[in-house]
Amino acid sequence: MKRSIILILSVLLLQSSHATEGMWVPSMIKQLVGDDMAAMGMKIDPSDLYAINQSSIKDAVVHFNGGCTSVLVSDQSLLLTNHHCGYSRIQAHSSLENNYLKDGFWAMDLSEELANPGMDASIIQEIRDVTDELLGDVSVDASESTRSEHIEQRSEELIEKIKEETGFDAYIKPFYHGNQYLLFIVEIFKDIRLVGAPPSSIGKYGFDTDNWVWPRHTGDFSVFRIYANKDNKPAEFSEENIPYRPRHFLPVNIQGVEENDFTIVYGFPGTTENYITEAEVENVLEVINPLRLKMREASLSVIDEAMRKDELTSIQYAAKQSRISNAYKKWIGQSKGLTRHRALEKKDSLEALFMQRIAEKEAWNQKYSTLLEEIAAIEAEELPYMVNRNYFIEFYYMGPEIFRFVERFRELVSMSEDANVTDVQIAEWIEDAKDKLGYFKNYDAQVDKEIMRAQIGFFIEDQADADFLSGIKSEKQSLMEFVDHLYAESMFVSEDRVTDLLNNFKRKKLKKITSDPAYAFSKRIAAHYYESTRPALLEYVTQGDSLMRVWMAAQMEVLPERTYSPDANGSLRITFGKVEGYAPFDGAEYAYYTTLAGVMEKEDPSSEEFEVPVKLKELFESKDYGRYAHSTGEMRVCFVASNHTSGGNSGSPVIDANGNLIGLNFDRTWESTMSDIMFNPSICRNITVDIRYVLFIMDKFAGAKHLVDEMTLVSGVEG
Ligand code: ASP
Repeated sequence: MKRSIILILSVLLLQSSHATEGMWVPSMIKQLVGDDMAAMGMKIDPSDLYAINQSSIKDAVVHFNGGCTSVLVSDQSLLLTNHHCGYSRIQAHSSLENNYLKDGFWAMDLSEELANPGMDASIIQEIRDVTDELLGDVSVDASESTRSEHIEQRSEELIEKIKEETGFDAYIKPFYHGNQYLLFIVEIFKDIRLVGAPPSSIGKYGFDTDNWVWPRHTGDFSVFRIYANKDNKPAEFSEENIPYRPRHFLPVNIQGVEENDFTIVYGFPGTTENYITEAEVENVLEVINPLRLKMREASLSVIDEAMRKDELTSIQYAAKQSRISNAYKKWIGQSKGLTRHRALEKKDSLEALFMQRIAEKEAWNQKYSTLLEEIAAIEAEELPYMVNRNYFIEFYYMGPEIFRFVERFRELVSMSEDANVTDVQIAEWIEDAKDKLGYFKNYDAQVDKEIMRAQIGFFIEDQADADFLSGIKSEKQSLMEFVDHLYAESMFVSEDRVTDLLNNFKRKKLKKITSDPAYAFSKRIAAHYYESTRPALLEYVTQGDSLMRVWMAAQMEVLPERTYSPDANGSLRITFGKVEGYAPFDGAEYAYYTTLAGVMEKEDPSSEEFEVPVKLKELFESKDYGRYAHSTGEMRVCFVASNHTSGGNSGSPVIDANGNLIGLNFDRTWESTMSDIMFNPSICRNITVDIRYVLFIMDKFAGAKHLVDEMTLVSGVEG
């Protein structure tokens, strides 16, 4: 069976070809979609996009701290990404005195660039297909656990070998739901410095109201730089480090784009689920998304109000609020899009067609006739555990922060109880914990308590299977009294009390920690998830994954006329499309670009979301756009195109037909958030900030022309 799957893949890979849909692996571009790309207008050769023996565009595409993408634009490794990708770093450097979120930040020379401990940026060196090496001798009848143990062991060996041979890091990821495995050889840099960021009134203009929305007017960019040691190799932060000299950086096209121009988005899309069945889509629409939305609405109502009232809170909670609200709004759009574009019906007809086809061939019928039923059955059994998991994530990980803060102390408790752990080791743990008390800089116990008050009812009541409160809450207490008591009594809400605990910690006086109400509650919730929900869920997930692997291969075999690009999995991909507007709903037609005039139109002095900086207004009044103006004289801000993107593509370079940078991808339209589950080329559009707006803000607004001067501008009209 395995052999046949690989055969199907290779046959299909040669024939799959459909414009715009799909996130393609760069090393397979030539073979799979090179002709389509050329037919759509690409002028460069696929080997300009990906090569291993010579420099290519892939060397300029940088995975930004594991979650976003960024792009190198100078030989001194100036790195552009989105404002929202750099946001938590900008926030970390901000204070009431130096509020970089509000006012922006610009380093005027290398010495002013700000270090970001703990951050990394990585560049892919090579991609190799290792399917045969991992699966070559796994028997067709091997059980799922034997198969995965084998893969795990082989992967470890292979990664070790590659590291030794090349001196680089490496990781392996499954593709096509485990029908193919690719190895990525990667260089990871550790000294990444903040160079510049516009004020949020530009970089986040429109805030939540405009997030995921078109027409859009956000200058969503920030600027970093990669540093390396004197040998141009990755190194931890050091004053001695110097800017990394990259193998490739992208020239910047300041001619701009016109409708129907060819575009590539090159980056690291996070997760898509384009091949799930109707049953799974139904669960997302009817159970999972509503649950998540309910929990996030509860926390956001608290956070938003607190941020509105107080400037310090608005700094402290800015990054947290964005993290919660981003996916919140995305899920609303996703559910709407899937419903409006009849995703269930489409999945249903696909599955009906599949059943009809297999009925025509006995061999298929034998292999696949019960497959969809089996998937639906597993889905149904898995659902209650998925519900619990999502509640756990929304409450424990995305809700009140106190849960995660006290979680660390569980380690201290277990170390203290373990006779093999020495006092010296405990003292080290305590010193380390003291270093992490910076957590309180962004913590407000009152806000945290209100979040718990807002969410706890849903969490407790919707998971009737668990006894979260017995022995923790007294009979007489209402839920709200329980929460008030927890925050009134817990020492973990106060930096002074935690410092005192750490300074005077005694191994034998653990009760002080274990009887703390926040400690007890956090432990109970985590125990329920890790001891009860997760093990059961894992079993279903394992069964589901193996059925999914068969379903993926079955679709490719039985319905070969369709396009199959692998689901996003955080690995490097290329998507291509063209600059084009769209019709969002009946009677409306959206243009493909927006301009600075639109920024002014949206201005609303009564709303922090739509404040326009005075300097920007002056530049608009005087039309002082210099060489960054479009040929029509306008200052273009954003444009949309039909590239298939996802979260993780934030900050991705948007590249023209000649391999030059034309913008930074930062979002999708609301109607397109459905593309994580179903891509629809007529409606799905990615949103890009025009690179000329980025340069204009740097140069004319921020007075940081030296950064533009570092870049190589092409096709520009001098101004
Ligand atoms: N703005 C998005 C994000 O936050 C990018 C996208 O999903 O298209 O990840």
